Amino acid sequence: MVSPVIPSTGVLSPLGLDTVRLAPGFWGDRVDLNREVVIDHCLEWMEREGWIGNFRGERPRRGREFSDSEAYKLLEGMAWAGHPGLPELAATVAAAQEGDGYLNTRWNSERYSDFEWGHELYCYGHLIQAGVARLRAHGEDELTTVARRAADHVCDRFMETAETCGHPEVEMALVELYRATGTGRYLEMARRFVERRGLPALGPIHLGRAYFQDDLPVRRARVLRGHAVRALYLASGAVDVAVETGDDELLHAIEEQWENTVARRTYLTGGMGSRHTDEAFGEDFELPADRAYSETCAGIASIMLSHRLLLATGRARYADLAERTMYNVLATSPALDGRSFFYANPLHMRIPPEPREGVVDHTSGAGLRSSWYDVSCCPNNIARTLASLPAYLAAADGDALHIHHYAPAEIRHRGLALRLETDYPWSGTVTAHVVEGRPGRIVLRVPSWAEGATLTHGGTTRPAGPGHVTAEADWRPGDRIRLDLPMRSRWTFPDRRVDAVRGCAAVERGPLVYCAESVGDEPPLALVKALPEPPAERTEDGVVELEARACLVAPADAVWPYRAGQGAAPGQEVPGQEAPGQEVAAGQEPVAGQEVTLRMIPYHRWGNRGPSSMRVWLPLA
Ligand SMILES: [Zn+2]
Repeated sequence: MVSPVIPSTGVLSPLGLDTVRLAPGFWGDRVDLNREVVIDHCLEWMEREGWIGNFRGERPRRGREFSDSEAYKLLEGMAWAGHPGLPELAATVAAAQEGDGYLNTRWNSERYSDFEWGHELYCYGHLIQAGVARLRAHGEDELTTVARRAADHVCDRFMETAETCGHPEVEMALVELYRATGTGRYLEMARRFVERRGLPALGPIHLGRAYFQDDLPVRRARVLRGHAVRALYLASGAVDVAVETGDDELLHAIEEQWENTVARRTYLTGGMGSRHTDEAFGEDFELPADRAYSETCAGIASIMLSHRLLLATGRARYADLAERTMYNVLATSPALDGRSFFYANPLHMRIPPEPREGVVDHTSGAGLRSSWYDVSCCPNNIARTLASLPAYLAAADGDALHIHHYAPAEIRHRGLALRLETDYPWSGTVTAHVVEGRPGRIVLRVPSWAEGATLTHGGTTRPAGPGHVTAEADWRPGDRIRLDLPMRSRWTFPDRRVDAVRGCAAVERGPLVYCAESVGDEPPLALVKALPEPPAERTEDGVVELEARACLVAPADAVWPYRAGQGAAPGQEVPGQEAPGQEVAAGQEPVAGQEVTLRMIPYHRWGNRGPSSMRVWLPLA
């Protein structure tokens, strides 16, 4: 099977790239763009920035201490995509490996001298994942040999020590290599890395031990904290270890961490991590829209964690969050042309940012999408995730076929072949045509927002969901089942404890979060208050846009905007009230109380029309 995650136990078994094929559509188009544009874009920039030259011994060495991992992530993407450039890059990497399996272009002369920041084991993790991808998609070759030698080196060097890496990642990689090869010591090494953490295993750092999840043992934590990507990779590795060793206590601990994190530390988009300083989760309900970090890699890591928990438990809730994150973080990062990427994914952009194309961004910034970054983790993570995306669509429980995500696709499982037709996420109708049949169950996920969903087959229509709906029959070619998920726009209101967006509302439609975007002379978002009435829909180039009604408020006036007692301060309550001395925004003559139509676009499409201001959470009139 060709899939990044193949647990040997669990409620569901994954279906891989060999049995799920995407056709043109929302995801099929992106997977094609990835294969045809994104991977080569990453390859060119890494060559240009010297990160591949580092493996050739070119000096001075260039890039950050973890830049080797970028080549490995890209190799993983190339392996899933069957990219013809893989053997050459793999040979370049292989030439830098030392006799005992050690491989790192930054630390080779001073190996393992900085576990807190050195990222050596982190880099191996990505190398091993690339090796597993190559093994499953192609078979043994130079890359799989390099990966196994590195894994053997890690086991030799670390099995009996108390050390670990400041950046988790190697844990899930070792478990997957165990799954792919059957070599037990890779699993044992991963288990020990998970158990060591929090004893503590690392030295103190100025950001505190929670930054790299060394503040308490994994199984004792109740919520994800610290650096978001680190936390989510560690949790993913812990699920893998728990599933393979039958450690239910560890699995339940991660489930509880997931629940608490989703309930209190997750953006509407599925994004995770609200702090820029340490790329970290904030406190509970600390979810500022404009200061949202919501790193693309954290979104990808969240999808990885939810996918693992879905396979382990079968609970639709995990697929719901994965879907939210796929459409609103994963799909948001790459520009429509696949040549620039968001690193951070804020939900509010106050000042139209400068274009960043063609330059290397030295911040993880809040600008427009950039072609490349000093720390370019996100583009390569996009490349490997899109290349393996079909593996996330469906799974099996014995003979039963479970479909979790909807896209035009062909899916095969044990003599049953389906062709899925849908315009999802623009339409909520999904039709599964049986191409090859046998008796059995077909289980379809019904997303939590899809109130009133129905399933039609065999001439009858019945309510579907919540969670999932099952159709059972002796399937014959020509049979059809149709799932109808009501695709209505809806206003969403935040918990009052999310103080940063109190008094605001957002618009969603199906799995998509929408945003208001203002380019050029369009109404300035700083002066807009929304009227939460059902937005009008219109389809523009196949994309469903919404038109929300709003009114303009007076800009800042001379009155002190605070007062004793509750209620609005003088001059704050509009509509209809003119304020003296109002500022006039560029290109616009705002009149307080004037009603305007807000063009709402899917959040994942923002920033594709040039510099713009944007907001997901709109203040209510
Ligand atoms: Zn990243």
